[in-house]
Amino acid sequence: MTIKIPAEIISCQNFINGEFVKGSGEKIQVISPYNGKIIGEFNCASRNAVDATIDAAAIAQLSWAEVPMKERTKVMFNFRNILIRDMDEIAHLKSAESGKNFDEGKAGLMKGIEVLEYAIALQNMDLGGKVEVSRGVSCEYRREPVGVVANITPFNFPAMVPMWTIPIALTLGNAYIWKPSEKTPLTSLKIASALKEAGLPDGLFQVLQGTKETVEAIIDHKAVKAIGFVGSTKIAKAVYDRGTKEGKRVLALGGAKNHIVLLPDANADMAGVGISDSFTGCAGQRCMAASVLLVVGNPEDTKKHIEKIINRASSLKLGSDMGAIITKAQVAFLKEAITRAETAGAKILLDGRLAVAPKGMEEGNWIGPTILDNVQPGSEAATVELFGPIISIIRCKDISEAMKIENSVTYGNACSVFTSNGALAEKVIRMASTGMVGVNVGVPVPREPFSFGGINASKFGHGDITGQHSLDFWSNIKKVTVKWEKQNDNNWMS
Ligand code: NAD
Repeated sequence: MTIKIPAEIISCQNFINGEFVKGSGEKIQVISPYNGKIIGEFNCASRNAVDATIDAAAIAQLSWAEVPMKERTKVMFNFRNILIRDMDEIAHLKSAESGKNFDEGKAGLMKGIEVLEYAIALQNMDLGGKVEVSRGVSCEYRREPVGVVANITPFNFPAMVPMWTIPIALTLGNAYIWKPSEKTPLTSLKIASALKEAGLPDGLFQVLQGTKETVEAIIDHKAVKAIGFVGSTKIAKAVYDRGTKEGKRVLALGGAKNHIVLLPDANADMAGVGISDSFTGCAGQRCMAASVLLVVGNPEDTKKHIEKIINRASSLKLGSDMGAIITKAQVAFLKEAITRAETAGAKILLDGRLAVAPKGMEEGNWIGPTILDNVQPGSEAATVELFGPIISIIRCKDISEAMKIENSVTYGNACSVFTSNGALAEKVIRMASTGMVGVNVGVPVPREPFSFGGINASKFGHGDITGQHSLDFWSNIKKVTVKWEKQNDNNWMS
């Protein structure tokens, strides 16, 4: 489906205490990767505006914490229905600003709604626990909100990544401050409007537009107790360091360099589709995209698999099957990286530099799927997150060699194996140095309620950002020990 690109420039404001409010800082333009046109603009929130917004959120949160979870959940249920009602409109807007195709725009929202459904289910699942630990004495767990929490998100999933945390944090009784990517801030207008329409009291969901300075002001505010971040590893580490230095809890997800291990016994059709879609989906701009293909064994035994990957990737039409790249600078970087890999000895099996822009979108940011063969372990194409539709094939003699290469990369988001042998798959699962592993699945994103999160340089902090293993991040556990009557049988804990 053709993406509807906004014809007018959208004024993208902060959302504070239930109203859209213009910022007073630096002016930033939002440019559609599809056609290079300005589709939005905003002024960054100043430090003073950040401080006032968070102060207001801290006051609103005190009342929200008193609302029983079952009542908070009603707002989330309304929120879900509004997102489903407006799904196509939101998918068009987020695709127009991020370069996704329509199906990808919709899929990101659907994954966000899955997290929302998990949050709605908490009222029936997260029951705490109470046990009589000795005569007349009980111990109880109570989950309480942290207070004001903040989340800073990247350009590549304008709805899904924020939706990983918004429903859970709000359902658990927190107030939520969101700083969207300055490249894709427009989707935040829709999410803020939907939450207001759903009946969320003012002040509990505040959106602050901006860049580094706005983020730093948010982290520095004393009332912000927990900070979620998703973006590149360098910034994730900086945000983690700044927040934890002040004693705050921070969960900062970073970049990735994901591997797929291809074994000769893999079903060639499944591998062809799964591997091609993994590195070309979202034009390679996702932290779960495969970017290194570790091909094990005699090259003759995997020739047909590689042919199927090339055939599928080369059949994709730019502008519909595969979307655009976020900026012109990133297209230039990707093209130069391909050239550098070629100079370093890689053989180009499919060359995305030759791709032609779709008709009518010549001013957009385009590159086609690229497959590099005979890439050397340790080289740029093998170790650096390029963030585009490029896959580097490294030839390996056996699984041990493949996993040694996988383990040597600093990141740790995802690794997959394509095989029809369960024992070999299990070997890869055990040896992978990643938080998420797939078997015959090119993009092993866990579905809710299974948590999302990597390890190594793909994540700073403890726990995961969604699902069961996110609950303790967005809440405090109070341990309550109660005795109402004096007991005669004293014991060591009496
Ligand atoms: P980015 O790191 O440039 O920006 C992320 C956020 O940080 C944005 O909101 C941005 O405004 C803010 N920011 C930028 N510079 C900052 C600074 N110096 N101090 C404080 N905040 C700053 O990332 P991006 O280019 O928007 O997104 C792509 C990256 O995100 C890739 O590396 C990708 O792998 C990663 N990502 C990771 C996951 C994951 O789950 N691990 C998911 C999606 C994207």
